[in-house]
Amino acid sequence: MTDTATQTATSAGPQVEPTTGTHRRSDLVIVYHRQPYEEVEEGGRTVLRENASPNGIVPTLKGFFGQVDHAAWVAWKHADDPSNPGFDRVIEIADSFGTYAVSRLPLTPAQVTSFYHVTSKEAFWPILHGFKETYNYDPVDWPTFREVNWAFAEAAAAEVAPGGVVWVHDYNLWLVPGYLRRLRPDARIVFFHHTPFPGADMFATLPWRGEIVESLLACDAVGFHIPRYARNFTAVAEAQAGAEVSEEIPTPEEMAPMGGALTARRLPLALDYEGRRIRVHTNPVGANFGYIERLAGTDEVAAKVAAIREDMGDGQLILSVSRTDYTKGNIEQLETFERLLERRPELHGRVRLMLVSVGANRAMTAYEEVQRRIEELTGRINGRFGSFEWQPVALISTVIPLAELVAYYRAADICSITPLADGLNLVASEFCAAQGEGAKGVLVLSEFAGCAVTLQGAVPVNPFSHASMDRGLDQALDMDAEEALGRMTALRRSARRWDIEAWTQRELALFADLRAEAAAG
Ligand code: UDP
Repeated sequence: MTDTATQTATSAGPQVEPTTGTHRRSDLVIVYHRQPYEEVEEGGRTVLRENASPNGIVPTLKGFFGQVDHAAWVAWKHADDPSNPGFDRVIEIADSFGTYAVSRLPLTPAQVTSFYHVTSKEAFWPILHGFKETYNYDPVDWPTFREVNWAFAEAAAAEVAPGGVVWVHDYNLWLVPGYLRRLRPDARIVFFHHTPFPGADMFATLPWRGEIVESLLACDAVGFHIPRYARNFTAVAEAQAGAEVSEEIPTPEEMAPMGGALTARRLPLALDYEGRRIRVHTNPVGANFGYIERLAGTDEVAAKVAAIREDMGDGQLILSVSRTDYTKGNIEQLETFERLLERRPELHGRVRLMLVSVGANRAMTAYEEVQRRIEELTGRINGRFGSFEWQPVALISTVIPLAELVAYYRAADICSITPLADGLNLVASEFCAAQGEGAKGVLVLSEFAGCAVTLQGAVPVNPFSHASMDRGLDQALDMDAEEALGRMTALRRSARRWDIEAWTQRELALFADLRAEAAAG
């Protein structure tokens, strides 16, 4: 049994207030590796600060708290000695999202490195994105991965009310559903993948594939962004465990562009495994469209946009925003821009690439190598083509606050998003939201970003082909205003249709269905 303690908490952002109370079981338990607030050191003590921006996955998930009587969140927190962590395991928090419990799993830095940075990021991440050559099996300590996942499952089991929903997020917690099913057979277990799910041949690279699939098949529902990932999962479940697709429909037209690289024409809805029905749930996460549109329409942003546009004169601004990751295609983006400047000297002095490539704070060789290549290429392009008055590439490696980022989204002529693989990609939709009504910005979008199947009106490119990347960029730069307006109107319509509110409603409908099913016995 866990204890509930009163948490002393203050906030420089929106208030995170402590509450008193006894341990209450929750109808909804969210299992997500990060805590649902920021922990900051102030005056020698730790204070909890509510995430200031409503953008991002943490505030989105917290939005579900208001939908149930009581909710809980399970996350890890550093402790040198987990048996004596020096903090209360479970605290009750009251903030603008409501009152909820947070169960903090004490993990040592070595456990976090092993389960998260090594197993999840060096072994799983490359396979999820189709990069066998980056996959690093040797340092994986599988017993530690199991142990940490077991601890998450135990913590969730202690929080969930009878028949309640436990909602587990992402591949670093792949083994949680299987363990949780043993601990709490009554719970409704839902898993959501925020990444791509690879095809059966790629997934088979993981030596722990059978154990992972068995765990996912202990869920009541397994969720994905797009039909292709759902189909990949059912193929894996069939090959590895003998599960069978029991319900399938034609994919709705609005998420099945004909001939798209990630298009799947059939949508699996359920698997049958050992007499149980496992729902296969496809629900693409969306941008916070309304919030970003409103933010982009403020006077402060208008002033910033005017300054950017003045700086650009009649030149064109190409914007690209992502994390520094070999999956994001930033190197290919720079190489494409370099070829553009070689091919079209008339554009010298008239076009700029602003590449926001934010380094993840982890010392991993694969990421350091990407960062080094990006810096090297930027230097080479600016050295080859730039002058005192004109710097062709502006490379930004630190996070830009959203309020500022939306000004660049709004000011840009082109947003170029060219990942080699990407679960969904929110930046593409945020660009459309920020552009505003009647805007003529052009979105160049990789066919390998999940959102390529939901967004209509982008210029599609294949980042594995120089010809396709070159053609796409030329098309965007040369597009007439009428075509650009038509495309942006369609893009905004589809980005709004698939926004975060729509995602939330579909998840809630799934939970309601599962509860009703359980109640009906
Ligand atoms: N972002 C930001 N500032 C930056 C770069 C990115 O606020 O300097 C945000 C961006 O607005 C988006 C998120 O980071 O909401 C990136 O999400 P996306 O789905 O595009 O990529 P991920 O990093 O999750 O793979």
